[in-house]
Amino acid sequence: MLQVDVRELQQGPVQTSGELPAQDETFAGLGLALEGPVRVTGQLTETGDQEYFWHARLEARFRGLCRRCLTDVVSPLELAVEVLFSADPDAADDPAVYPLVAPVIRVDVRPAVREELALAVPAFPLCREDCAGLCPRCGADLNAGPCGCTAPSD
Ligand SMILES: [Zn+2]
Ligand SMILES: [Zn+2]
Repeated sequence: MLQVDVRELQQGPVQTSGELPAQDETFAGLGLALEGPVRVTGQLTETGDQEYFWHARLEARFRGLCRRCLTDVVSPLELAVEVLFSADPDAADDPAVYPLVAPVIRVDVRPAVREELALAVPAFPLCREDCAGLCPRCGADLNAGPCGCTAPSD
C-alpha cells in the first residue's frame, strides 16, 4: 500500500509496502531502464501537523551497458530513503521535502519513489568490479583472454 489515509496515520505509524511495475506511470518520462518491478518497503509516521516522515527501502534492477566492455549488464540497486512529506508552505522550498496539498487526505509516497530512484540510477555500470574491458587497439574483449596486441603474461 503506497497511498495511506491520514486517519490511519493518526493512529500510529503505517507500514508501506508494494511493488511498482517498470511500466507504472510513477516512472513515466524518466527513461529509466528498469528490469522488473521496483519493490518498496517502509514506514510512514505522522510527525507534525500535516507532516509525515517516511523511511523506506527501494529495490530495483537496471539494465545498461558496462562502461568498460559494453556488454549488457543488469545492476541491482538497493536504496535507503528518508523523506518528509509536508503541507507546510514554509517547507515547500526545501528540496528534501515533498509537498502535500492541504487539507491532506492521504499521503502518496510514489512521487518520492520516482525522484529518489531517478537520482540513484547507476549512470556507469560495470559488469563486474574487475572487468578487463576492451583492448583499445583491436577492440577485443579482454575478459575472454588476452588479445594478439600484447604478449600474454603469466
Ligand atoms: Zn564489463
Ligand atoms: Zn588488442
